Amino acid sequence: MSSQVIELPKVTVDLDMCEGAGVCAQVCPMNVYDMVEIRGESKAKPTRADDCIMCMACVNGCPASAITVEDE
Ligand code: SF4
Repeated sequence: MSSQVIELPKVTVDLDMCEGAGVCAQVCPMNVYDMVEIRGESKAKPTRADDCIMCMACVNGCPASAITVEDE
């Protein structure tokens, strides 16, 4: 019997870099992101990171290069 490994991707948004453009929320096919207000600024929050399929659309689309996606 072969062992199976379940890998959950880890989606990280650097809140200092995030400019709240919302591109990630628009391009993510899995609806991982919610735009939230933190200290009066719009920020992307990867609320449903467990749904990520690692397509990298958010990483490539973010104008602030604020997102990293990696195997956990
Ligand atoms: S890598 Fe793709 S599925 Fe994962 S959060 Fe980014 S846009 Fe969504």
